[in-house]
Parts: sequence; C-alpha cells; structure tokens
Amino acid sequence: MTGLSSHTKCYALMVLMLPSDSARQWHVHELELVEVVADQVAVALSHAAILEESMRARDLLMEQNVALDLARREAETAIRARNDFLAVMNHEMRTPMHAIIALSSLLQETELTPEQRLMVETILKSSNLLATLINDVLDLSKLEDGSLQLDIGTFNLHSVFKEVLNLIKPVASVKKLSITLNLAQDLPVYAVGDEKRLMQTVLNVVGNAVKFSKEGSISIIAFVAKSESLRDSRAPDFFPMPSDNHFYLRVQVKDSGSGINPQEIPKLFTKFSQSQSSATRNSGGNGLGLAICKRFVNLMEGHIWLESDGLAKGCTATFIVKLGIPERSNESKLPFTPKVPANHGQTNFSGLKVLVMDDNGVSRMVTKGLLEHLGCDVSTVSSSEECLHGVSHEHQVVFLDVCMPGIDGFDLAVTIREKFAKRHEKPLIVALTGNTDKVTKENCMRVGINGVIQKPISVDKMRSILSELLEHRVLYEAL
Ligand code: ADP
Repeated sequence: MTGLSSHTKCYALMVLMLPSDSARQWHVHELELVEVVADQVAVALSHAAILEESMRARDLLMEQNVALDLARREAETAIRARNDFLAVMNHEMRTPMHAIIALSSLLQETELTPEQRLMVETILKSSNLLATLINDVLDLSKLEDGSLQLDIGTFNLHSVFKEVLNLIKPVASVKKLSITLNLAQDLPVYAVGDEKRLMQTVLNVVGNAVKFSKEGSISIIAFVAKSESLRDSRAPDFFPMPSDNHFYLRVQVKDSGSGINPQEIPKLFTKFSQSQSSATRNSGGNGLGLAICKRFVNLMEGHIWLESDGLAKGCTATFIVKLGIPERSNESKLPFTPKVPANHGQTNFSGLKVLVMDDNGVSRMVTKGLLEHLGCDVSTVSSSEECLHGVSHEHQVVFLDVCMPGIDGFDLAVTIREKFAKRHEKPLIVALTGNTDKVTKENCMRVGINGVIQKPISVDKMRSILSELLEHRVLYEAL
C-alpha cells in the first residue's frame, strides 16, 4: 500500500507489513479496514503537501506585494518629483528668461554702437530660443502624461497662415528664399479647433522648410481634404469620419532644401532625433519640433508625414487635422485678438497712470521699465494689500501678475472691481501670466479682467498691446 503526495517531486511511501510470525489471524474485513486507514493517511499526507505548497506560494505572493508596493511608492515619488520639477521650471526658469527678453528689447531701443547692437540682438535671439525650448519641454511632458488638452475655440483659419507667413518672412528673405502661400478658395475662413497648437504645427513645419533650405522656394498649400483622398496606406490607424459639422484640413509644405534620406524619415518623429545630414548638424535645432507636431496632430485626430526623394532633393511635409465648422452665430462672438507684435496705433503713452502689482522684484522692475520707456507714469506694489490700498480712480490701467504663489490674483481683481463699482472712472485690469492654459484665460474672463497678456513681453509687444487695449478696452491675447 502506498501513500502518494500530490507534489510531483516529493513522494511519501508507506509500507504496511503484517508480522509473518504473528499468531494472529487477520480477517478479511480487518485487512480491508487497515487498507482504508492506510489510504486515509496517504490522503492526509497529500493534503499536507498541498497545504505546505500553498503556504509557500502565499509567502511568495506577500513578498511580491511588498516589492510591488515599494515600486508603486517609488513611481509615485518619481511622478511627484517630476511635477515639482515642472512647476519649478514653469515659474523659476521662465521669470529670469522673461526678464532677459524684456530688458534686452529695452536695451535695443537705446543708443548702441553697431557691435553692442549685434550683441543685444544675439542675446535676444538666444533667449527667445531658450524660452521656446522651455515651452517645448513643458508641452512635451504634458503631452506624455496625457494632461495636455486642446484649447478649443472659433478662430480665423486664414489668419493663422498669414501670421505664420509674417513671422517667417524676415528669416526667409535674409536667406533669399521665396515663399508662396496658397489657401484654397473653399477653405473656410473660420474654424473650430485649437488655434495655438495648429499655428505651432504650421510654424514648425514651415520653419523646418526654411531652416533646411539654402536657396530656392517654399510653397505652403492649405485646402479641405476630400474624403476620397483621406484614406492613406501610410496611416493604417487613421480613420477619417466625414460629418456635417467637421472638415479635414490638409496642409502641404514643399521645399527645395537639403532633403532627407528616406530611411531616416520614420525616426524623425521621435523626440530628440534628427537626420544625420550636415544640414541638420548646422541647423541648431533640438529634434523636438516634429515629435510635438505629431502629438498635436494626433490630438486633432489627424496625421502627419514627410516625403523626400533623398539628400539635396527637397522635402514635402504634409499634415491633416480635423477641425469644426462654426455655427454662424459664433462668428460674431470671436475674441478680439491683437496683431502682436505690430507697430501701429499710439506709440507714446505719456502720462498714462498705471499700477503694476507683482510679487517678484525682477518681474516688477522689468514691467515698470517697459512701461516707463513708453512714457507711462508707473507705480508698483508687491502684495494684494498694498495693491488695494494703492489703487485709485486715477489709475487708468492696473497690471496684475495672476500667477503668484500664495496670492489669488483673480480674487484681487474682483475686489478692485467692487471698490470702483459705483465710480465712473475705473481702471482697466490686465492680467500678466506666464501660463498658457485655458483655465487661466477662463478665470480672467470670469472675473471680468479686461485683458490677458502672456509673458515674455518685449517693448514692441507692450506698445501694441497698450494701444489695442486703450482703443478697444478689451484684449485677450490668443493664449
Ligand atoms: P529640429 O528641426 O529642431 O531639429 P524637428 O523635430 O522639427 O527638430 O526635425 C527633426 C529633424 O527632421 C531635423 O533635425 C531634420 O534633420 C529633419 N527635417 C525636418 N524637416 C526637414 C526639411 N524640411 N528638410 C530636411 N530635413 C528636415
């Protein structure tokens, strides 16, 4: 008789032997009984083995749970560290950056020798580049953790392209490149979507065309993609769904520049990757632009791709995005968007009484410097209490930094509004912000702030903002 444990590797062998010299006569039923007992013992042994095994598994599971818990806590700490880092980047790095940009633009308006002018221009150009890089990195991290959401609104689609052209033309003309813009006749003037991200995408693609072309021409074409041209074997995950209140915008930017080795194209949409060509090595880029464009385009339910016949054979970048068609009634409610930086309207604000409230000494000094340069009579305060105490009906404009730690700029705006509720002369309240999110803009509108201005501010920008603001009494920069 044997008792066999269920464990594959361990056996318990039980041998039951009746003494041969026993005088006892075993009856059949007694033998059967012994056999049954032996079987029960075997079953009990086997259960014990199973129990032992399951206890071992439970211990292992507990160890694994402890390790998992530790890993989860480590991951949470890493996320917290990353968010803290982003917050620091957002505030601490942008503030000095904005100060450098504003002050060098101020310096540019003073008398300088040609060498000094060149140096200041270089400082300005480099700091703008750095500011863009900081924004790109912040955008990219938000895109990666899924927290970046599109800021949807009705906007002038044609203006987006014209604005890009205005921005890029000076660089192109220095390089003697000709740029043509062709907006199809059926392209709606107004569309619903994220204007800023669309503009950033067009600007990046057109910027690349200019950056990687030494001579020749660049053409930008924008049209409504017809449903038959939407299916594309390059993008098996792209499922365009035509509907009455949407259309697909197709933008094609063709250049006669350095071209790309076709094998290298797929990797260019990964962050920090660039082609190996010498044109790229000399371009001073960072390989983030296309990675960000791809994510924006994906958020806009579209896709983006590059085509090139090879090195020195030019390149065509194409992207498709889904945009809404606005309801007629919305078009008249479009937010006012100034053409910044445009040097028009009033240029001297001699005697304009303004109050600047900013808790950061450097930022306060910078905004004051810019305004004084334009002839304003500026007083500054650094806290809500000082601001409430200092603001009077003689102030025509109050600039509030709404992103100060520990101070609610929106509450302050409401209190200022209440203070002057019964008076005819009341100051215009303008929010200064380094943030580009929708929530800030909505909060400003909610509390009746007259305008929002996004840092960095240069002399030119401040000049056109002030003149637009005084003319229209409301100004919401396209955030
Ligand atoms: P960056 O231009 O800052 O390097 P991008 O992500 O915008 O970053 O582009 C990645 C790379 O793709 C570039 O470095 C370049 O090698 C290649 N590339 C993009 N557009 C073009 C173009 N129009 N012509 C040639 N190469 C291009």
